[in-house]
Amino acid sequence: MWGGKTEALISRLVRARIQEIPVLAFNPKKNDRYGTQDIRAHSGAMFPALPVLSGADILEAVQRDQPAVVGIDEFFMIPGALAAVQTLVKKRIKVVVSTLDLDSEGVIWEDLGQLLAMAEEVVKCPAVCAVCKADAYFTYRKGFAPSERLLVGTDDFYEPRCRNCFDEGQEAKRAATGEGSLFEGGA
Ligand SMILES: [Zn+2]
Repeated sequence: MWGGKTEALISRLVRARIQEIPVLAFNPKKNDRYGTQDIRAHSGAMFPALPVLSGADILEAVQRDQPAVVGIDEFFMIPGALAAVQTLVKKRIKVVVSTLDLDSEGVIWEDLGQLLAMAEEVVKCPAVCAVCKADAYFTYRKGFAPSERLLVGTDDFYEPRCRNCFDEGQEAKRAATGEGSLFEGGA
């Protein structure tokens, strides 16, 4: 979220393309923030992509087009993407992935631990906290937003926050709904 991770992904894919390496890029079909035919960064940078529903869709397209580099945007939104990445790297295909690592409760997305452990290089791209402008590693779900874990095309419901402002917001939401703190009695 405004952290430049999509820009970082696009710049690597563009570099491969300039090197005349065949590139194939994917994004989740349900990510309709800007439509699903391109990977688009907030800066306006774009790269053509195939919208997919699953990791199996990725493997099918790779089988057909035989790229040497594969880009995946919003990895966390594509079921089966981890298995697809594992298959691709065994085929000596270079894979570049952009993803959130935590959901809006601060819980690690499944598959992210394995993805990070497999990665030869990891670049964290912190966004800017919407409250205090510090580096933001958390995605805060605003109080009025629906509570599904995966909301799509709905930037209005989220904002990047640093840990302090994230914790304060979570506390305020719990107070507003009358729930006790999850960490009551903790350190
Ligand atoms: Zn903050």
